[in-house]
Amino acid sequence: MNEKACLPRITLGCLGGTVSMQAGLPGTGVTPQLGGDELLAGMPQLGALADISTVTLCLLPSASLSFRILLDVLAWARGEVERGAQAVVLTQGTDTLEESAYFLDLLWPCDVPLVMTGAMRPASQPGNDGPANLLAAVQVALAAKSQGRGVLVVLNDQIHLAAQVRKTASLSIAAFESPGWGPEGSVVEGQVIFRGASVPRKVLPLPKHCEHRVALLDACLDADSALLQAIPTLGYEGLVVAGFGAGHVSTAWSQALARIAKDMPVIVATRTGCGPTARATYGFVGAEIDLQSKGMHMAGRLCPRKCRILLWLLIGLDDQAALPGWLAH
Ligand code: ASP
Repeated sequence: MNEKACLPRITLGCLGGTVSMQAGLPGTGVTPQLGGDELLAGMPQLGALADISTVTLCLLPSASLSFRILLDVLAWARGEVERGAQAVVLTQGTDTLEESAYFLDLLWPCDVPLVMTGAMRPASQPGNDGPANLLAAVQVALAAKSQGRGVLVVLNDQIHLAAQVRKTASLSIAAFESPGWGPEGSVVEGQVIFRGASVPRKVLPLPKHCEHRVALLDACLDADSALLQAIPTLGYEGLVVAGFGAGHVSTAWSQALARIAKDMPVIVATRTGCGPTARATYGFVGAEIDLQSKGMHMAGRLCPRKCRILLWLLIGLDDQAALPGWLAH
């Protein structure tokens, strides 16, 4: 009997990134070159765990992925589940992994796990972490306990939730954390361990339109408000501000934002990288009480980049009214 027929069926989709990168001519640096088949060939042990088919969806550095590409990836992954895949694993560059994972998580309607991974060291570098990350991602994808948890990000033997994970180091192997939250689980000697049971998920329908744009600006010391004031004239339909501390801006920004918030949804998040925004602590102009009274939304735990994704998807559904519920979720 065909041994493969007894194994669970997994699909591996490959988008590029460092995990797929190799050196070309000396001095030219690494670029994405390895597709799904080559990644699989680099980890022959996987063949004993699952019947894995591979698709090279694109070979891009992750800075050049887009919402449009991710919607295509989503359609492909859903199709794979309909065709009988028991899990889907995606490899991509780590630079935007936290954003793509959250984007896909908000739209992933299946109980079947969608597990994302990548690598910090190129495939052609000694000690590259791609094969180990791929093995752990497949182990997580295969675990019954991974069902119903949406999109999981697996690197360095840790499992992170899409809404919490962040790349917090530029070159370290241990570049992924869920600040203020912690990893959702880990992979130890091939065993997948979660720290708790899965919780009910909220999922969005597909956006009805995709041409709109949401801006993201960082508050910084002594910044003028010229860029801010230009936002409505540039055709943006939503704005996220990565505010100081617990979600604060200067007096001048508070005034400029008050005008903008009359025309489009504005979310104020924290630029600190960890912890929620405040709701009812600070009373100065530019702090959360003032900003909320001027029609702005406080991000809660959601980081500025993920706020931009949430807002983009809600505007694409003409459902900005759902924003407070999502931010409180
Ligand atoms: N340094 C990146 C990576 O880890 C490059 C990218 O995001 O594509 O994959």
